[in-house]
Amino acid sequence: PSAPRPVPGACFSRARPEPLRRPRVVALSEPALALLGLGAPPAAAAAREAREAEAALFFSGNALLPGAEPAAHCYCGHQFGQFAGQLGDGAAMYLGEVCTEAGERWELQLKGAGPTPFSRQADGRKVLRSSIREFLCSEAMFHLGIPTTRAGACVTSQSTVVRDIFYDGNPRPEPCAVVLRLAPTFLRFGSFEIFKPRDEHTGRAGPSVGRDDIRLQMLDYVISTFYPEIQATHPGDPVQRHAAFFREVTRRTARLVAEWQCVGFCHGVLNTDNMSIVGLTIDYGPFGFLDRYDPDHVCNASDTAGRYAYSKQPEVCKWNLQKLAEALDPALPLELAEAILAEEFDAEFSRHYLQKMRRKLGLMQTEQEGDGALVAQLLETMHLTGADVTNSFYLLSSLPAAPEPPDLDEFLAALTAQCASLEELRLAFRPQMDPRQLSMMLMLAQSNPQLLALIGTRASLARELERVEQQSRLEQLSEAELHVRNRSTWAAWLGDYRARLEKDREASSDAAAWQAERVRIMRANNPKYVLRNYIAQGAIEAAESGDFSEVRRVLKLLETPYGGEVEAAEPEEASEAAEPRGAADRRRSYSSKPPLWAAELCVT
Ligand code: AMP
Ligand code: MG
Ligand code: MG
Repeated sequence: PSAPRPVPGACFSRARPEPLRRPRVVALSEPALALLGLGAPPAAAAAREAREAEAALFFSGNALLPGAEPAAHCYCGHQFGQFAGQLGDGAAMYLGEVCTEAGERWELQLKGAGPTPFSRQADGRKVLRSSIREFLCSEAMFHLGIPTTRAGACVTSQSTVVRDIFYDGNPRPEPCAVVLRLAPTFLRFGSFEIFKPRDEHTGRAGPSVGRDDIRLQMLDYVISTFYPEIQATHPGDPVQRHAAFFREVTRRTARLVAEWQCVGFCHGVLNTDNMSIVGLTIDYGPFGFLDRYDPDHVCNASDTAGRYAYSKQPEVCKWNLQKLAEALDPALPLELAEAILAEEFDAEFSRHYLQKMRRKLGLMQTEQEGDGALVAQLLETMHLTGADVTNSFYLLSSLPAAPEPPDLDEFLAALTAQCASLEELRLAFRPQMDPRQLSMMLMLAQSNPQLLALIGTRASLARELERVEQQSRLEQLSEAELHVRNRSTWAAWLGDYRARLEKDREASSDAAAWQAERVRIMRANNPKYVLRNYIAQGAIEAAESGDFSEVRRVLKLLETPYGGEVEAAEPEEASEAAEPRGAADRRRSYSSKPPLWAAELCVT
């Protein structure tokens, strides 16, 4: 079934997992497996091993669960702003669905189990490093309280594929891995774009599933299964039903991206085929959590134009909803859908974003006019000082309500320790082109701006100029001056924040109870641990050398992101200098500021 072909009139094709050599469990997520009714692992080592061996067999695709009918879903999508026609799914296979005793229904997918009819020229495989990242982040997002697909297992093998070529020209074979994913549904915006007969702009033919009756069937299925409350309210009026559905997808998507913004999560590849039809985070690839606050941060190294930069995620999600609206027409008239999008998206995003930020700042007693501005100023403060997003928010939860001046001093010292050092900034803003290349590009930019815009070079050129400018500013600054500047920038914002807290304290009838509740809410909304790239990288490097313990430890850690008991493997020790980076970093607490090399990690 591996020959690429369009499939007229069908949204799914049968597929079959291709066995892997010697599959082995890297890690299992017990909370995810429990959703399927799989009991906790036995205590005895031998029984545990037997269970893992069985899991490796079934969750690699080497053996099929009874009743499984593997199939691949056919979908389209807009990639980086362009309609790309039929895309997939070339790498994931449905196994079927599990209906649980609790009355839940979970779809099971294997990602990386071999080619499907939609794999085009590719192999349908996933490598260990990307599988570990998807596995860990799916579960991390769930435990953060952010809607997401789940991951039950990550299985590696002795089969290999080549994705990268070493600098010396030799191929670098990597182990093939499979992730068991669970979700109510994996349908995407792109699942509906498949019904577009062709793109108006490129004239490119769609995959010829362009038949209204199948679209209606898919819509009916999605609404009745995942939006039953909508199905029930508009029994005889399909257009109203489709409108209510699109309104709800819009709201869920707006709330989802607001959650991402509040935790500093960058998805990395917000193409329409990576947008869940039920508002989940889906398809973890080159994602990244912000370490240093930078609104222009681009986590996907192949996104050279910065289309999916952190600060652009809300508008990109809205753009993607516009594409969904176009794909639903005429089942939902486009004009009606556009009116709903205009009415709902920005309003729902702002409402949810501000609500979440109020919780992160412990502003629960009153709502004040200036709260939005206070949040914006906080982000600007983080930006100016290069503060670590997760750690700054986390620290704020320990700010005493009305401390004496010495307490505030100590607090400011802790905050400024989370700001970027001169060395970090110099690294972060290190120019990436050599000066001759830059002046060539500038000449080109003057003579042929359209061409540069077309190939997406204008944005990267602007970023490069910014880096050069930053670099010369940094050269004139000493570490001590930077520290003083960071401290006073934070002190100014803290002054406003404490004044704002005072308003809440005054409005409360019981100051002590208010204080306790404020800290509780803040702790429950400001994670201590997120899956930083460097943490994932440490787990990946250990796993690639056959040691899965770090993946398992990180998985456990991320089950209690708001502060749990699991700390780094060993206590911190004084001398780290001579040690290899893996060993030194494993000793580092998972909640400390990332090491210098973290900023250099490149994920594609
Ligand atoms: P992504 O940008 O990762 O969402 O990938 C876009 C599409 O490319 C997916 O929907 C897959 O169908 C396809 N794809 C990605 N990786 C592979 C692979 N290793 N083999 C076949 N198809 C793939
Ligand atoms: Mg995808
Ligand atoms: Mg992918």
